[in-house]
Amino acid sequence: MDEVAGRKELEAHWVRVCDRLRKEIGDKAFKTWFGEVELGKLETGKLRLYAPTRFVRDWVARHYGDRVLAYWQAVNNGVSSVEVNLVPPPAPRRANDIIAMPPLPSSPQGYASSMPRLGPAIGRGSDEAFQGSEARYTFANFVVGKPNEFAYAAARNIAEQDRPLPERNPLYIFGGVGLGKTHLMHAIWHAIRERDPKTRVLYLTAESFVNRFIQALRTKSTGQFKELFRNVDVLMVDDVQFICGKEASQDEFFFTFNSLVEQNKQIVLSSEKPPSELQDIEERMRSRLGSGLVADIHSSTYELRLSILQAKAETARIPVPLSVLEFLAHKISTNIRELEGALNRVIAHGQLIGREITVEMAQDVLHDLLRQADRKVTVDEIQQRVAAHYNIKLAEMSSPRRARSVARPRQVAMYLAKQLTTLSLPQIGKRFGNRDHTTVMHAVRKIEELKVSDLSIAEDVELLKRQLQG
Ligand code: ADP
Ligand code: MG
Repeated sequence: MDEVAGRKELEAHWVRVCDRLRKEIGDKAFKTWFGEVELGKLETGKLRLYAPTRFVRDWVARHYGDRVLAYWQAVNNGVSSVEVNLVPPPAPRRANDIIAMPPLPSSPQGYASSMPRLGPAIGRGSDEAFQGSEARYTFANFVVGKPNEFAYAAARNIAEQDRPLPERNPLYIFGGVGLGKTHLMHAIWHAIRERDPKTRVLYLTAESFVNRFIQALRTKSTGQFKELFRNVDVLMVDDVQFICGKEASQDEFFFTFNSLVEQNKQIVLSSEKPPSELQDIEERMRSRLGSGLVADIHSSTYELRLSILQAKAETARIPVPLSVLEFLAHKISTNIRELEGALNRVIAHGQLIGREITVEMAQDVLHDLLRQADRKVTVDEIQQRVAAHYNIKLAEMSSPRRARSVARPRQVAMYLAKQLTTLSLPQIGKRFGNRDHTTVMHAVRKIEELKVSDLSIAEDVELLKRQLQG
């Protein structure tokens, strides 16, 4: 049977299954639980359904799994099991690692004819790599408050400027994770596009820059790689800290950077750290990065968090009481991304269950997140867990011994201490046998590197992190 006909038939079966379900559990429950469930594929007897949220997935599987299977088997005897999965996250999010403007044809063929071919980005489909910017990341949607007003003003200024001012080039925005750096960069992209659609703006993550460069080296196509940057008017590179320690890529970046600045092209960079705190970069690079306008985004305040929540809640389809917004702004102080996620979860839950949103309900829905926020991990706990995990003595955490078998676990523990506590590098060093802060820094970097190259370390770290936060 050809594939299209097979699909049609499967869809017809799904309609019949839904009819029977609706009859049995009633219209309301059916809408609540199956309204957004989608039909997937039937492969070797296994039928896949897709649920919009984890919550719906679990509920459907637990409460209706048997019935769904029985109904399917009644209409299609090729089905031996039914699996409910989570819908994959929307592609554009991940595709945003590089955005070129004017927009390029989204098909790889079209793109090849209008731009030099770069080969696919590592780990991503080549056709995914060029797409529009995240539509909601605009200046209009960016809530301004004390912690981010300077970065916001600087970004707006760049977007409204016809020619870059040398003293503001590059614009270097830095701040912690989830505080709005990427949002601001996309906002610049949108604003320039609105003002003058002919300006060529290239946005890409530093990771994408590095991956593409490595790919170009491998396929001996660095000429084509360079071509990508040759005619841009504005270059934006997100998360430049990623380039640290990657020598060849750094040189290439430095070269690209300089040649654009010489042509008086605007450059916008973002980073988690100020130029002075970037490790493993050449001095000339460091001074170049910080030679324009450096703007930081401070960690959020309660007031800013509340305003952001209010702005987001306004667009929700159901009302969210102020008390709930205040509760969230108070409890979730880490970063804006988490804050948004929490609000979305509460709203989604209210919609699905048809339940009024209250503080208790929010507490209930977010209990895992809130527990994490309340929980403070100590260095002692980290050292104990890590020592137990690697089966070494606790005393090795502060011993001077440098054998790999104890040094590596010690580095993992230092890394976790940096990640999970608010202690400074010197404070952490002190707790590990009075070590110097540079030793801790080295450990943190080492583990960050190993997490990429060594799967077992990555797994160890994830596991330990989860145990410590659990
Ligand atoms: P970063 O790049 O700094 O890690 P993002 O720009 O990805 O952070 O921001 C994380 C999320 O928080 C995004 O969804 C963004 O829209 C939102 N966000 C951050 N700051 C603000 C703000 N001031 N107003 C509105 N939304 C914000
Ligand atoms: Mg970002």
